[in-house]
Amino acid sequence: MAFEANRNVNVYELARRGDELGGELQTTDLSRLPSEVRASAASVRYRLCAAIDERGRPAATVTLAGNLPLICDLCGDAIAWPLQVTRHYFFVASEVALHALPIDVAEEEGLLGSEEFDLTSLIEDDIILALPVAPRHPSCQAERDAGPSIARPSLADNRVRHKSSFAALATWSVGRNKTHKN
Ligand SMILES: [Zn+2]
Repeated sequence: MAFEANRNVNVYELARRGDELGGELQTTDLSRLPSEVRASAASVRYRLCAAIDERGRPAATVTLAGNLPLICDLCGDAIAWPLQVTRHYFFVASEVALHALPIDVAEEEGLLGSEEFDLTSLIEDDIILALPVAPRHPSCQAERDAGPSIARPSLADNRVRHKSSFAALATWSVGRNKTHKN
């Protein structure tokens, strides 16, 4: 399957035809993702199903799936975090119409439609919104949940702390090489 760094689509045409499209993006091509997600290539599969919705609006459902490389908040090791996103959108024709939309908690979100809609950018937004604040291995979380009632030898604690600071350092240097912020 071809990897596409940028994909623009005509959302009106797709909705009118009730069309579907899909493909795969590489995290390394998505510059707004956090550095750990972009440090190694991971693919995100996407699917867009367009239709005219029951209110007569051009609309689309976007689904994303993939395993993203994150760093476990508790042990500092890599974690292949399962991305699973389904979002519903409808499209309006102008900025004015977009700002006139009532703010509600509906499942669908209004977007400014276009004949050259930047699908890649939308997918990137959806990935960023889905990323966990504190990614954790299920086993690390279970250990944490077991709580402080279990007395742990301090040596083991130190080892964990060391391991995690080395991993943090590795992430830091990867990020630093990419961004050059000094
Ligand atoms: Zn962990």
